[in-house]
Amino acid sequence: MRKREFWLLVGSQCLYGDDVLKTVSERAEEMTEKMNGSGMLPYPMVYKGTAKSNEEISRVVREANYDEHCAGVITWCHTFSPSKMWINGLALLQKPYCHLATQYNREIPNEEIDMDFMNLNQAAHGDREHGFIGARLRLPRKVIAGYWSDVSVLDKLGSWMKAAVGVAVSRELKVMRFGDNMREVAVTEGDKVEAQIKLGWQVNTWAVGDLVKEMDAVTEDEIDALMTEYTAEYDIATENVEAIRYQAREEIAMKRMLDREGCKAFTNTFQDLYGMEQLPGLASQHLMSRGYGYGGEGDWKVAAMTAIMKAMGENGNGASAFMEDYTYHLEEGRMYSLGAHMLEVCPSLARTRPRIETHHLGIGMNEKDPARLVFEGKEGAAIVVSLVDMGGRMRLICQDIECVKPIMEMPNLPVARVMWKPAPNLLEGVECWITAGGAHHTVLSYDVTAEQMRDFANMMEIEFVHITKDTTKEVLEEKLLLADLAWRLR
Ligand code: MN
Repeated sequence: MRKREFWLLVGSQCLYGDDVLKTVSERAEEMTEKMNGSGMLPYPMVYKGTAKSNEEISRVVREANYDEHCAGVITWCHTFSPSKMWINGLALLQKPYCHLATQYNREIPNEEIDMDFMNLNQAAHGDREHGFIGARLRLPRKVIAGYWSDVSVLDKLGSWMKAAVGVAVSRELKVMRFGDNMREVAVTEGDKVEAQIKLGWQVNTWAVGDLVKEMDAVTEDEIDALMTEYTAEYDIATENVEAIRYQAREEIAMKRMLDREGCKAFTNTFQDLYGMEQLPGLASQHLMSRGYGYGGEGDWKVAAMTAIMKAMGENGNGASAFMEDYTYHLEEGRMYSLGAHMLEVCPSLARTRPRIETHHLGIGMNEKDPARLVFEGKEGAAIVVSLVDMGGRMRLICQDIECVKPIMEMPNLPVARVMWKPAPNLLEGVECWITAGGAHHTVLSYDVTAEQMRDFANMMEIEFVHITKDTTKEVLEEKLLLADLAWRLR
């Protein structure tokens, strides 16, 4: 995984003399060291100096743009820092931008405070000047206010860093499509050129026949090695070892092609498996557990979002997964959505040790019963996210959900299953989701937050719709109407 870091640029000016600038610099070093030492920032912050002139700021921004490790720029104004000297630099900035409105001292020192103190510690004043130019330039930015060593501030900054890493992953993401989208489906389609312009995704197709050729080249020794991994991570609950070995062959071949092309996400479709005996089930699930994004039925948007959200999560591979709303339980007072897929649910969602099972799969071109992981999803707060192409723009829809232990055993359901209650409640939640045009495919995540998705959408300059416990259909309809007008004008 690429090393990522964030650059801190502290605003000041030459008006106050060298002593003040020396103090600003020492304090910025101290704050950087302590914030990094807090253990609360998921990525290191690097102090890149005190900004005192247009030339200096422009130079640091140019360096940030070209530095492959720099995932974002954080600014703070220790003293007043006149913003006209920031215009040229900020106008060039291509990396995520966070304005941290803080100050070195927590309290006003009653005895010590005089005009020198005021001039040195005027973030309250300097950060407003700095905020104006961000607003005037219409820059996508995150504003975080609070004392720099407070847990709440470090938490917000750390959360934003993860969203910014999602942006970095997005901008270099390659998606491998094995075949095209499922025939006649609308929501999995979209403008791949627009997606590359806005989100950076390189989405291209490879022939299923090339994958079959790669599968033929996989050796029995390689399959043995992967079988050892499967056995360590999962319970084998089938006599059909050949089906598992076939999935291992598919996984090794797919991984080889993905890695050769630098792709972190892939799609396939049950309608295009020519030369393959089984739709990849276990194979796709195990690849997802290793951080690869996946989308069924050729859904490249959800494949890409899965890879990005996995990378935004804990340790760069969180509990995020390709998901599909399948069916509802509509009993009064106990209403739930049941999520699953034909085969491919990522085991990062599992509350129990997954079992490898083989079952008949009637849909598609499967000649033989595909092996797949079967498990129940975890309980807990989560989100589901869907990216749809509205024609001329992308809309990211995020809904808060509460996952529960599935309320029944469903012993004849041959796939992994997750059960949840969407916000504000199932029926209104479904009404809101359908009103916004959300897909049946989503990314379900336990550790990426709605705020991080909002930050991501903000940085990518795409539309964001959030369905929460407070959302009503009436208000949502108005918001969508206004957003539609605003986005047409942009
Ligand atoms: Mn599907």
